Amino acid sequence: MKIGGFQKLSLIDYPGKISCIVFTIGCNFRCPYCYVPQLVLPEKIKKLKEVPVAEIFSFLQKNKGLNEAVVITGGEPTIHPDLPEFIRRVKAMGYSVALETNGTNFRMLKNLVEEKLVDYVELDIKNKLDFEKYNLTVGGVLTEKMFENIKKSIKLLLEGKIAYEFRTTLVKEFHRVEDIVEIAKAIKGGKIYYLQNFRPDVEVVGGKRFTPMDEETLKEIVKKASNFVRVVRR
Ligand code: SF4
Repeated sequence: MKIGGFQKLSLIDYPGKISCIVFTIGCNFRCPYCYVPQLVLPEKIKKLKEVPVAEIFSFLQKNKGLNEAVVITGGEPTIHPDLPEFIRRVKAMGYSVALETNGTNFRMLKNLVEEKLVDYVELDIKNKLDFEKYNLTVGGVLTEKMFENIKKSIKLLLEGKIAYEFRTTLVKEFHRVEDIVEIAKAIKGGKIYYLQNFRPDVEVVGGKRFTPMDEETLKEIVKKASNFVRVVRR
């Protein structure tokens, strides 16, 4: 597995636990507003210094008991076929594992859930479940197969066999109030739906400027989406 970053301490990324964060390299999407171009764009990945897997396991070994959980994010972690093996080793050390994913690798996600290798899943829903709109939001690389997998991943989490959250980053250029309400309807009855507003102060994959939602629109979104699912702003 290729790892491009390792944050040794976080108090906010795993619900209720002290965690560390592993950032995997590479992604099958190109969301133009993505905050981590260094983990997504091949020309930037080339300049990135990989974190040796051994270094992470050495840290985990030394910090057992202090640190309780490992959050795996990216990039898109599930593009790495050896992710389950990596997680198996982490779990064997007694850590809880959270996985952040875009849901395109349904088969791997399902296996991870069924094998109880992950304890918490954070599924990033990019837009309402309309192929054209979704494709635009992920940079024009969406395939029918990926799209079907995303829908299946949402359904899997809604079955409630594992702790999870849904989330969406709100960007004015890609989302209208109705789009987010449509997402809320699609995850009706789900445990929790986090909405995070776009941060305009960072370099993004698309190399352009994008706009966060204004406060009034945000409030309207939260009010309308809350008719279907518990919505929390981040
Ligand atoms: S925001 Fe999009 S491009 Fe960036 S890591 Fe997530 S899925 Fe990949």
